[in-house]
Amino acid sequence: MTTRRPTTCPACRQPIRWTTTQAGRHLAVDPTPDLDGNTAVWRDGTGAWRSRRPTTELPLNGWERLHKPHVATCPANQQQLPLPPGVTRLADHRRNRR
Ligand SMILES: [Zn+2]
Repeated sequence: MTTRRPTTCPACRQPIRWTTTQAGRHLAVDPTPDLDGNTAVWRDGTGAWRSRRPTTELPLNGWERLHKPHVATCPANQQQLPLPPGVTRLADHRRNRR
């Protein structure tokens, strides 16, 4: 681990867990697994938290847990506050894809 990121959301002060997506982006998820989540989170061999979107071709693996991206649950996000650099606003991402 090279960079120490805050483990609480700067907007709402709730605990978050930083993950790195397969695209190399930083994604903050809620630290508690949630079966309704859409993001698979696991810890790789170096101890870093990784995340990806499960698909029908690559469904959830046994070592992965579903989490919700923090932007989906952040109360501050409901007011459309600007996100920290490098953080994807998942709702927009989804809207563009459908
Ligand atoms: Zn928040």
